[in-house]
This record gives sequence, structure tokens and C-alpha cells, in this order.
Amino acid sequence: MEVKLVVGMEIHVQLACNTKMFCGCRLGYGDAPNSNVCPVCLGLPGSLPVINKQAFEHSVRTALALNLNIAEFTKWDRKGYYYPDLPKNYQISQYDLPFSYDGYIDLPLADGTAHRVRINRAHLEEDAGKNQHEGLPHSQIDLNRAGTPLLEIVTEPDLNSPEQCRVLAQELQKIVQFVGASHANMQLGQMRFEPNINLQITMDGKVYKTPIVEVKNLNSFRAVEGAVAYEAWRQLEEFKKDHSFTRENHGKQNRGWDDAKGETIFQREKEESSDYRYFPDPDLVPVKVDAGWLKNIRDNMPEMPLAMKARFVNELGLKEYDASVLTAEAPMARYFDAAVKAGGPAKRLANIITQFGISTASEKSCAIDELGITPQRLAELAKLVEDGTINATASAKLFNIMLTDDAPAAELAEKHSLIQKSDSGEIEKLVDEVLAANAKAVEDVRSGSKKAGAARGFLMGQVMQRSKGQANPKVVSELLAKKLS
Ligand SMILES: [Zn+2]
Repeated sequence: MEVKLVVGMEIHVQLACNTKMFCGCRLGYGDAPNSNVCPVCLGLPGSLPVINKQAFEHSVRTALALNLNIAEFTKWDRKGYYYPDLPKNYQISQYDLPFSYDGYIDLPLADGTAHRVRINRAHLEEDAGKNQHEGLPHSQIDLNRAGTPLLEIVTEPDLNSPEQCRVLAQELQKIVQFVGASHANMQLGQMRFEPNINLQITMDGKVYKTPIVEVKNLNSFRAVEGAVAYEAWRQLEEFKKDHSFTRENHGKQNRGWDDAKGETIFQREKEESSDYRYFPDPDLVPVKVDAGWLKNIRDNMPEMPLAMKARFVNELGLKEYDASVLTAEAPMARYFDAAVKAGGPAKRLANIITQFGISTASEKSCAIDELGITPQRLAELAKLVEDGTINATASAKLFNIMLTDDAPAAELAEKHSLIQKSDSGEIEKLVDEVLAANAKAVEDVRSGSKKAGAARGFLMGQVMQRSKGQANPKVVSELLAKKLS
């Protein structure tokens, strides 16, 4: 029996706009229920929608990053929807003429290879509001979210492992953040994933396909990988029990994900698209994309995370790992890049950011570029380490001082006595004192005993301590080696 996992993914991204998709209502997470509503998003008769240009621009930028073609002509359709969280009784979406089509993304896998996933399309639509049922004598509806601009990205069924599904989710999150289309905060539901999963089983020269399952509303990378792995297992078990468990005999199914149990749960049989009764929205004019407008967006596309990572490795000489960490988030990648362009040595900058910049930012619950140290000043700090003015220990101290003091880095290093001493005469005096006071350790090193390494480290530490951390460790090490040989 040969089993192939086949997964296509639908991804919903809430766009980072000030207002809703078809009206001027504010998008405010956590605002009082039903405070951001108007006749359009309440679905009142006679109200007319108008499209949000910013949402369209964000979407086109994302589509270009995913190598999609942008349609010259695109229109809006009504999709039947009979739940009270979208009171118009339909959702405005795009059916047969989406604004973008036929793209791809190359996924970087852990074994160093890339896996290409074709992207069928990306289209724009509106989100529904929220129904609340729990703990209430009757259901309540909050329509603040109704009409939120949503970008839906649909891949071809080119994903063949849970890992690939997770990497796709991670790369897409980075891409929408890098182009500025979405904050893509998963806890806030700003990015949701819906894998369509089935198996192709070859047995005795015959191919069987298990029924397709769509797992709804996954909002973490762990859930994406877990749900796909669970379905692959569950569908194979079903098929082993009964070989008529196939697409021909069963309809599509929607299932949910129970994060605590790590299982998918049956929700309902899935509608075919004819059930949605799509038809063109007569209230909205189609969009004709202007070639000059599109060229302007194309010419101003920011560098994408994978390209940036490759540049950090190939041109700046960073290690793969450091380049991955630095390009995990757009603000950090751009902050580092700006500091390099301001003349900072790349490897020192990478050390400063990865060794204490990130942890400081997370302690203060902000992005690294919001800590108050400009890229120019970070470059100054890195240069002081590079030219030996201060050592690595002092650079962490100086970084902390710079958070609250705007004076030039060199001036602060002087003021706080962090300048490294490289004068060998002065350091030699300290080395002599330490050797005289620690005869036992000196003996351990000279006899080449088992303790030699530890004793050498101890002596080094003693000299550094006497210099109050200011001696250049390289000079100390050289002097110790000379005197102990
Ligand atoms: Zn509104």
C-alpha cells in the first residue's frame, strides 16, 4: 500500500486597514460591541457599499509577493449567507473573476530543499461579525467585525506533509507582514488557516482517494501541523477498516480542531459552491486596474524575507541561523539592515540584536525598533566593539544605558568607564599580581595536569576582575600564555 498525503490550503488574512471593506466604519479590536457600525455593514435597505482602496492595494502587494498575476478587470459577487452575524444575508466576495490568479511560493524546508506550491488565486471579501452564545440566556451579536477586509489565498493541492503545511503558514505570515498588508497576529484571529486534506492510496494497482476534509479556522502553526497529521492518520485508519471510504461514496466534510485533545471533530457535510448561489453584486462597480498604478506598486515592492535572509548570508557573511532569526519579523529585519547601512559591522550587529536586543524588547513588550535606540546609534555601538574600544560584556551594559540616554555611544562608554584597556604595560602589572597570588593555579597550568584548562580560565577571570572588566581579553590571554609557558 502506497499512501500520498494531498493538502490544499485556504488562508484568510485580515488586512491592516483603518476602515472596513465597503464602508467607513473604524476597525477597532476590543471596542464596545456594535459601536463600529453603520447602515452599510448593518445591511439596512437602501445603503450602498464603496470599496476600500487601501485594502485593494494591500491585497495587490501580497499577490505580487506570491507571484500571482493581477487581473485587469475584477468584479464583486454576492455569496449566500444565512447567519445573523452578516445581516445583509450575503457576503460580498469574488467568485469567477478574482483580482489575482496563478502564482506560487517556494517553501524552504528543514533539509535545505525547496518545495514549490502553486497558488490558484487570491481574492478579497468581507469578514462576518461575532455570535455569542455561551453563558447567556439568549444569543447576542457583535457586528464590529462585520465588513472587515479579508484577503483569501487559495493554494493548489501541492502540500504533501504536515511540515510543508506549517512552513507554508509561517512563510505566508512573514510575507503579509513584510509587505505591510496585515499584522497577522494569530491570537487575535488576524490570520486563519483551513487545510483541505485527503489521501491517495495505491493498492493492487488501483488508486483510491479518501473523502476531502476541510479543517476550519486553525489559528496557530502548531494547530496547522497537528490537524494535518491527525487527519492523515485518521483517514488511513478509516480506509483500512473499510475500503469503500472514498470520495465517490462520501461527500466533503468540515471538521474542527480540538487543540487540547489534538483531534479533529466532525462539524457538518460541506456545501458545494452551487449552494452559495453566487451572483454579481449590482451595487458595486467592477475594478479596472490602471497599468500605471500597478507599475508604481510593483516598483515599490519591499524586499521579501527569503531574499533578505539570502542576502544576509551571502553578502553580509551571517550564519544561516542568525539570518533566520533576524528575518523572522519585518521590523527587526529592517532595523538590522538600516544599522548595517549606517556603517555598523554586520556580525557585531547580529550578536547585539540576537544576544540581548531581542530579550530586552520582549521584556518591555515592544518591537526591537521601538526600544529607543536608532539604527545609527546601534551601528556606533557595534563599531566600538569591532575596533576593540569596548568588549562584549561592556556592550551589553552600554546597550542598556543607551535605552535611556541619547548621548553618543563613545561618550557614554567613557562616562561609565566601559572603555577596554589594551595597554599591555598596565595589564602586565595585573597579570603579575594575579600569578603571584595564585601559586597553586599557576602550578596546575605549568604541570599540564588535568586541571590545567580550568586553572587557566580561573587566572583569566581573576585578571578580568581586577581590571573591573575593562581589560582587553585578547591581550590578557596573550600575556598569560607568554608568562605561563
Ligand atoms: Zn459600517
